[in-house]
Amino acid sequence: MILIVAEHAGGKLAKSTLEMVTAARDVAGAGREGPLTLLVLGQNVAGVATEAARYAEQVLVADLPELAAYDPERWAAAAAQIAQEGEANLVVIGGSRSGREYAPRVAVKLDAPYLEDAIRLGVSGAAVQAQRYTYLARVTETVEAEGGVVVVTVKPGSFAPAPAAGAGEQYDVELDLPAPRVEVTGRNVEKTSRVALSEADVIVTGGRGVGSPENFSTYVEGLADRIGAGVGATRAVVDAGWRPYAEQVGQTGKTVQPGAYIALGVSGAVQHLSGMGKSKYIVAINKDAEAPIFKVADYGIVGDINQIVPALIEAAKK
Ligand code: FAD
Repeated sequence: MILIVAEHAGGKLAKSTLEMVTAARDVAGAGREGPLTLLVLGQNVAGVATEAARYAEQVLVADLPELAAYDPERWAAAAAQIAQEGEANLVVIGGSRSGREYAPRVAVKLDAPYLEDAIRLGVSGAAVQAQRYTYLARVTETVEAEGGVVVVTVKPGSFAPAPAAGAGEQYDVELDLPAPRVEVTGRNVEKTSRVALSEADVIVTGGRGVGSPENFSTYVEGLADRIGAGVGATRAVVDAGWRPYAEQVGQTGKTVQPGAYIALGVSGAVQHLSGMGKSKYIVAINKDAEAPIFKVADYGIVGDINQIVPALIEAAKK
């Protein structure tokens, strides 16, 4: 069995789950065998399980009050138990903050090798092979792990979301879950009507060239809201306190792979490119024709944001 632990929120499968399915399909039948299986953990997740069945050969569902909120020990116990029972030879977990928290625990429970943050997945003989960034994303290294079962986390935004492929069977599973040792005493969920970066098909990102926090609101948020896009920021902008870290795209922020990435006043430093370079179309507006962002841009406008973006917003209104 190839086991993928589904990520979901708000009653819907997260895009990261479809990315994990693509990663798993890259090795399925090529050294790692057995049915592609999605494990859905949570409470009131029937809708998620039905959606998951469109992407996997089978869906295992644990719909339990004990799984209402994420807990690393319970998630690790559940994934390890199912992997053992199903004789999984590969366990794929999202490279989200929570995924990277519990995945090593799964590996320990299974006495399995652990490959973190894969941006590519393959096989080499009996080994699972992963590519991942290192040295500030200036180097891509290839790592291999042999073993009856290998645990992998997949860096969000690194694989294209899988297309649906039929209708898998759904099965309820029983789990032997530990009592939680950490109590969640409060949760502040950011309220925004804007699409989340990791889910957005179009992203408008502002860099230092935008000029000020006020301009960021007018130009970047203004354009994003007009076209229904997510909002991203460079580290320069986040470090300056203009925008929250949650919006940072790049090596030390989020990795994204939207259909279109619109970069306003972004120079295109290598640490930024490593987070968005795989976007399908990259559009850049920068007043410096030599800015590195133009080397990766599909469409570029050399000019001043203060003149071009208001015109774009006006055009989008029409
Ligand atoms: P700048 O490099 O200052 O570029 C601003 C651009 O705006 C320039 O190209 C300029 O020509 C243009 N401009 C100025 N005015 C206008 C105007 N009126 N109209 C049009 N264009 C204009 N960076 C990230 O983004 N994400 C990361 O995750 C990240 N991680 C890092 C990790 C490490 C370890 C290190 C060392 C650095 C990291 N960085 C990261 C920082 C990165 O190296 C760059 O410093 C940063 O991306 C630059 O941000 P910027 O493009 O907004 O600013």
